[in-house]
Amino acid sequence: MVNKLFWQDPYLDHCDAIVTSVSGNNITVDQTVAYAFSGGQESDMGTIGGFNIISATKRGLDIIYTLENHSLKEDDHVEIKIDMKNRHRLMRLHSCGDICLQIILKNHPELNGKRVGANVSPSKARIDFNMDYNISSLFPEIETELNKIINQKLPLVTAFEDDEKQIRYWEIAGYPKTRCGGTHVKNTAEIGKIRLKRKNIGGGKERIEMIIE
Ligand SMILES: [Zn+2]
Repeated sequence: MVNKLFWQDPYLDHCDAIVTSVSGNNITVDQTVAYAFSGGQESDMGTIGGFNIISATKRGLDIIYTLENHSLKEDDHVEIKIDMKNRHRLMRLHSCGDICLQIILKNHPELNGKRVGANVSPSKARIDFNMDYNISSLFPEIETELNKIINQKLPLVTAFEDDEKQIRYWEIAGYPKTRCGGTHVKNTAEIGKIRLKRKNIGGGKERIEMIIE
């Protein structure tokens, strides 16, 4: 099973690794800095042994990397590198999206269980709700609280809730522990300037988008 260094240090942009299995374009490694799509957070852009990562997929507690035309063999020693600029945007937007969700649920408990989708890309985060009114009516209160959290420069703690099952959480002062296996910024100040945008996606669904300025 792969050792996920992106949880120990989400700011690590490279590591050495050993290839533990090869099956066509798919490989596994003993440790990694490259995140695999889960919890709505997109995979990292990067290379393993100089070969581009086309996709990274979670399989149980392991990660399968699909590489472009590689020539790697089992037991090869490789370097894994990720695009840290891209990752840091994912971290900022993941933390921002999760905090916005907590603000919304705290102020509007009736929306609990109404979340029907979420995604974090390097350009924006989004959350979809089943709701029958315009979500932009909530923006002033979300912006006020979000900016307060950012300006307070709060430490954001991530850790294991369950070591064996690899269940993670994040927490900031004033909010409950939130289960999440994503990568997060260390301090809310890093989130920086964020713009909220509404999208009416139809079918009684409302989308809030968080965009890095
Ligand atoms: Zn999350």
